[in-house]
Amino acid sequence: MPRQVQQSSYPTAPPIDPGMFRVTGLIPAQVAPIHYIKRVWERIAPLQLADKSWDNVGVMIEAPYPVSNRKRVLLTIDLTAAVCDEALSMPDCGVIVSYHPPIFRALKSMTLSDPIQTSLLRLASKGISVFSPHTSLDATPNGINTWLVEPFIPIASSSTPLVPSDPPISGFEGAGSGKLVILKQRLCILDIAKMVKDHLGLQYVQIACPEPELTIGSIAVCAGSGGSMFKDVKADLLFTGEMSHHEVLAAVARHQGVILCNHTNTERPYLRAVLQPWLEKELNNDPDNGESGWSVSVSQSDADPLRVV
Ligand SMILES: [Zn+2]
Repeated sequence: MPRQVQQSSYPTAPPIDPGMFRVTGLIPAQVAPIHYIKRVWERIAPLQLADKSWDNVGVMIEAPYPVSNRKRVLLTIDLTAAVCDEALSMPDCGVIVSYHPPIFRALKSMTLSDPIQTSLLRLASKGISVFSPHTSLDATPNGINTWLVEPFIPIASSSTPLVPSDPPISGFEGAGSGKLVILKQRLCILDIAKMVKDHLGLQYVQIACPEPELTIGSIAVCAGSGGSMFKDVKADLLFTGEMSHHEVLAAVARHQGVILCNHTNTERPYLRAVLQPWLEKELNNDPDNGESGWSVSVSQSDADPLRVV
């Protein structure tokens, strides 16, 4: 027997106009900001570029009562509670682009007992949606891995994806996971470590090598955690954010050098260097948007949880 439904004492939520979620050639002014992000993202890093065999990308949570004139997008690597507070303190923030997906596995509930779910529920209740590009942003031709190999390009004879996108997407030629850079001349691993530190703005990186001044002719690169990507890669040097102890030992046993920077140190600088101006330009130049005034900010609270002391 169905239970009698109690009359709620809470104020009634405004009715949802289904038209506000419809994306057509001409976008009505009340369309939720997340729909602009979804469309513009197809010009930056189509979600088909993501490795869907394990990754979760796209809209993570869609605020049911979005505020259409919120034209600020907040970029972050991780959706921590601090980043959530920062977004909620911005009256014009309508969308968070969180590079790492805050929802990764199937959920059976959304409750306040989980810190990440708490952030998502708080954001949704205040009209802020969350979008995660993750490996689509690694793989796109102007993506994170392309930015990571930038200092090597003037001294390289080639730079190609470790795993090219399959099938290729028109307009995104050269997309794929990771990078393999072949240098014109061999360089000492210590010189390469210096280039990496300068590019990423780091005081320290970790290196492992089978001999103290290993010379390098080829570099495999992967943002974040590259251990599994590098499994069968034949390169003199593996450059990534983190690898496990045993992955490092195996690489050194294969006579490979390793440079590790901490996971998000290989990802976060890209937000300010490339994505912030790129996304802001695309949002303000969207031919179907009809409105400008979009702002894209990089989170001040987002940081690698580990620090060297
Ligand atoms: Zn990562």
